[in-house]
Amino acid sequence: MNHKKSSIKVKVFMYLIGFTAVLLLLLWFLQIVQLDNFYKKIKKNQLEKAAEKLLDNIDSENLEEYMHELADKYDLSINITTESGKSVYKANLPYNSHIYIYKPEQMASFVQKAEANNGSVMFEVGGRYRDFDFKETESEGESLPPFEPIPDKEPKGDKERFSDDIPKDKEEDAVSVVYVRLIRNTNGSDYVLLISSLITPVEATINTLRIQFVYISAIFVLLATSLAFIISRLVSRPIVRINESAKHLADGNFDVSFEEKGYKEVWELSRTLDYAAVELGRSERLQKELLANVSHDLRTPLTMITAYAEVMRDIPGENSPENVQVVIDEAKRLTVLVNDLLDLSKLQAGVTELNRNVFDFTTNILNVMNRFSKLTEQSGYTIKFEYRDNVKVYADEYKIYQVVYNLINNAINYAGEDKEVVVKQIVHGNIVRLQVTDHGKGIEPDELENIWDRYYKVDKNHKRAVQGSGLGLSIVHNILKLHNAKYGVDSSVGKGSTFWFELKLAKEE
Ligand code: ADP
Repeated sequence: MNHKKSSIKVKVFMYLIGFTAVLLLLLWFLQIVQLDNFYKKIKKNQLEKAAEKLLDNIDSENLEEYMHELADKYDLSINITTESGKSVYKANLPYNSHIYIYKPEQMASFVQKAEANNGSVMFEVGGRYRDFDFKETESEGESLPPFEPIPDKEPKGDKERFSDDIPKDKEEDAVSVVYVRLIRNTNGSDYVLLISSLITPVEATINTLRIQFVYISAIFVLLATSLAFIISRLVSRPIVRINESAKHLADGNFDVSFEEKGYKEVWELSRTLDYAAVELGRSERLQKELLANVSHDLRTPLTMITAYAEVMRDIPGENSPENVQVVIDEAKRLTVLVNDLLDLSKLQAGVTELNRNVFDFTTNILNVMNRFSKLTEQSGYTIKFEYRDNVKVYADEYKIYQVVYNLINNAINYAGEDKEVVVKQIVHGNIVRLQVTDHGKGIEPDELENIWDRYYKVDKNHKRAVQGSGLGLSIVHNILKLHNAKYGVDSSVGKGSTFWFELKLAKEE
């Protein structure tokens, strides 16, 4: 036995842990590694959508109000400027925003980039706000007067919100995205729409997720472990118990019963093993019976032969032809028995091959009848044979002879008071059916399936008219099975039995 095989418990556990690991890995990848990318994509999408919405409302009277609404909703800074950079409308725009344009070169480069890219361009910039000193730049703006910073409508609110977004020390890692789009209103005036938003997810969120992830992992592993434990117990317990019973079966205790009801597969396995146990028990019983019967049947003629031979040797005058005939008859009986045993063991071992030929089936039956003619003359038995025409079959001639012989032999053995046996050949389409009927005591319904077993006897003490080996029906059944022929018995207790089989007719050639 291979003790290195891991048990079902270990396997289920390993699979579940593996499954959990994959899940956690996926979760970690999506939630922690990819969070940044997802967030950026979503933010960029929002920017584009916001731009679309603004464009749809560009001629509206409530444009400014609408801008504020959008800016609040998505946490955006919005600036609509002339091409030279003069702010026309704005929302949530602190002075140090990335899109608070004040240098004409910068504005020109934005416009140029957008023109080269179908009218819009999106890029990322470092930091939450532009890192500059407002006053200093004011003095540098020579070519164009610096914008009069348009007073914010809610300056306080803006500042508060922006300054709360990111902890001061994380400000340097922050990234913003700027979306620039060239637009034109219905009057034909060109403007530039600039939208910016922070796209670095808040560090605190990631930290929360990380901690959550640790908890989730721990819970998952715990769940997987308990689940593995429960599943493996459910699966393995009935199997372990079945194994225990099967060991008893292997030791030759055929009375064990497998009573696992757990789940379908185990239930089916139990039924199969139950069936195997019953069959093994039956087979063992038959084996014992066979041995007992064979020894008994061998001993009887041997005793007779010895006794007669001794009498003939010791007592003068006893050496009569009748006595010698008894010795010869008993020796023949032994031969029949030994031949039948050999036949059956060959048939059952599967070494017998059919020697098929086209032959006259009806003549074959007449030959069998001939063999019984002496008996019918002496003992008053009548064997009727009813048939219309001679038919041919393609089969093993000798083996079919054996089948017919055994069936008629049994019918005579178990014939009723009338000592009559009726053999009937019926042709139906391309099938010939042979029936052997007696009017004897019949067979009990619950014995019917057993009679084909080797050496099975319904009545252990029956007297035989003709010597049989007790293996007859077993030989019949094995031969007919080899021919793939249908066969069976119809019997009613007290009225008699009809044994029958069917063969295909040989094709006319
Ligand atoms: P046996 O030599 O005992 O007849 P078989 O194998 O030929 O052995 O038959 C098996 C058993 O089937 C018989 O012992 C008998 O109980 C039953 N049997 C067979 N043929 C008949 C029959 N024609 N009528 C009643 N019982 C029969």
